[in-house]
Amino acid sequence: MTVAYVGLGSNLAQPETQLRTALIELDALPQSRCLAHSSLYRSPPMLTPGQPNNQPDYLNAVAALDTGLSPMELLAALQNLENQHHRQRAERWGPRTLDLDLLLFGDETIDLPELTVPHPGLYERNFVLYPLAELLAEQAEHLLIPGRGTLASLLAACPRGELEKLNSIP
Ligand code: ATP
Ligand code: CA
Ligand code: CA
Repeated sequence: MTVAYVGLGSNLAQPETQLRTALIELDALPQSRCLAHSSLYRSPPMLTPGQPNNQPDYLNAVAALDTGLSPMELLAALQNLENQHHRQRAERWGPRTLDLDLLLFGDETIDLPELTVPHPGLYERNFVLYPLAELLAEQAEHLLIPGRGTLASLLAACPRGELEKLNSIP
């Protein structure tokens, strides 16, 4: 079994419901159990060149999944869940009902055409680093992100910006 961290995002069709349903579905994946998840966070869409700039705010969260699946099996399962949520791939970084990114898979580094782990956006995205740190709490000081130092050091270099933590709902 390996502990994998999955980043969840949604900005369409009742994002909060999308994320809460997805957390239940992650726990129900074969050979997998959701150990914990962060609060939900709200943030404006990333402003990157090429990204559509008139889309709704995002809700994001991170889940820790104990899994017996291989990384590729887990990626396929995540994409399957995205499809069940009627994700349409109209434009890159466009609005979506559900995005599930494989952030970390144990301490593995994976560099395949379809799968890069740690996820390439992990190092600089506030909506990934802050929920991940919430989940890992004091372990953030020690958790080594393969090739990038500790989670705490990444967090220190990443301004919180407009990221807003939502009140936790059981
Ligand atoms: P970003 O990856 O910058 O967050 P995105 O989530 O919008 O952007 P997608 O359209 O969801 O990008 O995914 C594009 C491709 O990324 C997928 O087809 C998948 O094969 C690939 N990919 C590579 N590494 C990962 C990973 N760690 N987690 C999820 N998908 C990945
Ligand atoms: Ca993503
Ligand atoms: Ca994705």
